[in-house]
Amino acid sequence: MNMDSIKVQSKAHGIMYHHFHDNQKHIVGQGSISAETFNDMLDFYGKDHNIIGAGEFLQKSEAGTLSPADVCLTFDDGLLCQYDVAYPVMKDRGLTAFWFIYTSPLDGVIEKIELYRHFRFSKFSDIEDFYSAFFNIVAANDPEAMAAIHSFDPDQYLKEFPFYTPNDKRFRYMRDRVLGVSKYNMTMDKMLETYQYDIEKNSQILWLNADHIKNLRRQGHIIGLHSYSHPTVMSDKSYLEQSREYTTNKRQLESVLNEKITAVSYPCNSYNSDTLKCMRELGIRIGFRANMVDVQLEDIRYEYPRQDHANIMKAMEAAK
Ligand SMILES: [Zn+2]
Repeated sequence: MNMDSIKVQSKAHGIMYHHFHDNQKHIVGQGSISAETFNDMLDFYGKDHNIIGAGEFLQKSEAGTLSPADVCLTFDDGLLCQYDVAYPVMKDRGLTAFWFIYTSPLDGVIEKIELYRHFRFSKFSDIEDFYSAFFNIVAANDPEAMAAIHSFDPDQYLKEFPFYTPNDKRFRYMRDRVLGVSKYNMTMDKMLETYQYDIEKNSQILWLNADHIKNLRRQGHIIGLHSYSHPTVMSDKSYLEQSREYTTNKRQLESVLNEKITAVSYPCNSYNSDTLKCMRELGIRIGFRANMVDVQLEDIRYEYPRQDHANIMKAMEAAK
């Protein structure tokens, strides 16, 4: 991603945000940004783009009047740090955004992906410390799994991600190929216990609740779907399973807001024709994917591209 490709965007798109920090309630983590950086980023990107509110973006999409410079803001995963840190900045600027929310946390489910992330950054000052603690636990509890890592060659794994360190790759290989979901979760849960991580207390500050969602909507933001439980590879699931994920998600958000939900973004950018079929059946009017790559589109309304905020950060730092 070079500066030119940031500046000359030939198509209307969204900017995708995830984590924010304030150094108090919300800790610094990989890729997280502060209110100040968020504000600077909007200034920087706004020089070459027309950043508009979510409602206006939707309206222009439906009228077919979006111009290539039009950009909207989007927040994935329904995180409280977004509400506490980014929302006040937008309020000052008179801006609204799309918020794509997975709703299992509204049922009291503590989704591991977000909890483990918080644990990693709250208990370890750097990721290498986390990796060595993680591998110690694996070695103590599952020597067989640990043996698999001895013959592992990091140079031959995940070659398409050159920025991963050898330990990033060892960790991912252990998690995804050796342990698998349930053993990995068991290992992590053991670590949480060892480090006396307070799951109840910490899970309170991770996700938006129904009142936050209502307030955002009252202020003109648009609330959209992001599945019920945030599967990482939705496209592996059958049409029926996908339909269940999105229908449940939609029913919950509609009961919070008392209105029809009409927008979606796809968790981990994973979607296929079955997903788009679900969107048509659910009466969705606009959808976003998670990159700027030119792909063969099946339905432009449901596949607006998004720029990851990390790419804008890089361009902004290069321009300093
Ligand atoms: Zn997500």
